Amino acid sequence: MKMGEKMANSLGCILDIQSIQDKKENNYKIYIYFKGCNIKCYWCELPEAVNLKKEIQYITAKCDNCEKCIYVCPQNALLKNGNSVIFSRDLCVQCGNCVEACDRQARIMAGTNISADEIIEEISFMQKKMGKPPSSIVLTGGEPLLQDTFIKDILSACKENNLHTTVVTSGNVAFNKYIGIVPFTDVFYYSIKSLDKKKHKKITDFSNNKVLNNIKQLNEIANDIVLSIPLLKEVNDQKEEIEEIRDFVKGLKKISAVELQIFNTIPVEKYQALGLEKPTDSLDISMDIDFSQLVAVLEEANIKTRVTKGIARLSI
Ligand code: SF4
Ligand code: SF4
Repeated sequence: MKMGEKMANSLGCILDIQSIQDKKENNYKIYIYFKGCNIKCYWCELPEAVNLKKEIQYITAKCDNCEKCIYVCPQNALLKNGNSVIFSRDLCVQCGNCVEACDRQARIMAGTNISADEIIEEISFMQKKMGKPPSSIVLTGGEPLLQDTFIKDILSACKENNLHTTVVTSGNVAFNKYIGIVPFTDVFYYSIKSLDKKKHKKITDFSNNKVLNNIKQLNEIANDIVLSIPLLKEVNDQKEEIEEIRDFVKGLKKISAVELQIFNTIPVEKYQALGLEKPTDSLDISMDIDFSQLVAVLEEANIKTRVTKGIARLSI
């Protein structure tokens, strides 16, 4: 589908679409953040992307209990209780009335239902505004592969318009979901949290069996894979762990680079606004990690390595 044309159109749910400039490269990328994730990383910076559907974020610190939202809710999901508003999430149908009624932005809708056509139109609009094509369209999340038909439509339209594409994935999906998008994906940005099965289960709640099997199969058919490792203090920042990663990467010829990711603090207030349990305190997310030693382990084996920080990782 060329920009401006309509295509057989699938629907999906995204959190956001943003163009982000890369000053170093004098270019920009367009990031599409998909809703839905099927692993549970305790350091997740984007908990509003975990649920596959739209949901309300209620920021109690911004609420002055004016009650405007209560009057517009068709579900009685909002009730006055003394000097506060009680929100019953199980009754909410995400109609958005309360978001419109709230002057203080205390209620925010996390997620938009959108068609693949609309996403391509938005990409076209951003491209016109910037005056040149982006260096990549980055599909991230969440786990984009949970909406595989939807992302296939977006990726194939991007390729028809000669746009570079990147898919960010945690690898915990059935392998056949990758097969359909490989022809339209320039780079898979593949995250492995740990090669150690017990550790992976402890820090994500899921086994890494599928993650490791999928990357081996993807290595046979993908154009390019960048391996991303979230580095967590005293979890996977030991030299021996990175040596294992080095040996693993050496066996997979499509991996062109390894990225070691630094995280910020866990956004506890976002978890509260979504009515989610606060992530565990028992694991440290401190950034006090000696990266130089870890980078050296990989570079000495001629593995292209970089260190990145922040949700929109600009080196993608
Ligand atoms: S409209 Fe906004 S500020 Fe007023 S009670 Fe509702 S959430 Fe609070
Ligand atoms: S989104 Fe609609 S149903 Fe949900 S709390 Fe707001 S007004 Fe009520």
